[in-house]
Amino acid sequence: MDKVGRVLIEEEALNKRIKELGMEITRDFQGKKLVMVGILKGAVVFMSDLAKHIKLPLEMDFMAVSSYGASTKSSGVVRILKDLDLEVEDKDVLIVEDIVDTGLTLHYLCDYLLSRKPNSLKVCSCFDKPSRRKIPVTIDYLGFEIPDEFVIGYGLDYDQKYRNLPYVSVLELEKDDK
Ligand code: 5GP
Repeated sequence: MDKVGRVLIEEEALNKRIKELGMEITRDFQGKKLVMVGILKGAVVFMSDLAKHIKLPLEMDFMAVSSYGASTKSSGVVRILKDLDLEVEDKDVLIVEDIVDTGLTLHYLCDYLLSRKPNSLKVCSCFDKPSRRKIPVTIDYLGFEIPDEFVIGYGLDYDQKYRNLPYVSVLELEKDDK
């Protein structure tokens, strides 16, 4: 745990906000054919907590797109590594993302999912770093706005580790790692 820096969002604050998001989504998706599409792997922890607070019948699916490796810089190149298993035509799709940074991933995903002709498409992201945006994107349901820092925990990794932290921390690299 040597790279876990100061805590940005405590576990209690996460739980409280995610419950609120679940209630909002429950209210807004009454009578709709909700399909939650989680973006692997970062959104897994958020999606499973969020889904428990959505009191509606729903389907779950996952997509995987290329993202960061061990580096903390976005490549800007989006590639589908795992496509949807479910048919989403005429359904009400809710993309569940871990964090929106430049917006490139989400922009691509929205375009892609719209081409599958859903009845509606909305976005729910646990975190947002608006100061880093390169392309405008709409986030319909947002957990927390955070400053321009590389964060880990609650699904977010550094070099595939720290996803299991129940809180969000700032990554603390030693001089040799930078
Ligand atoms: P974007 O395409 O918006 O630049 O990047 C989105 C993806 O980059 C996220 O889904 C996430 O995987 C990764 N990412 C962006 N910021 C962070 C961060 O602070 N920490 C971690 N662990 N991943 C991040």
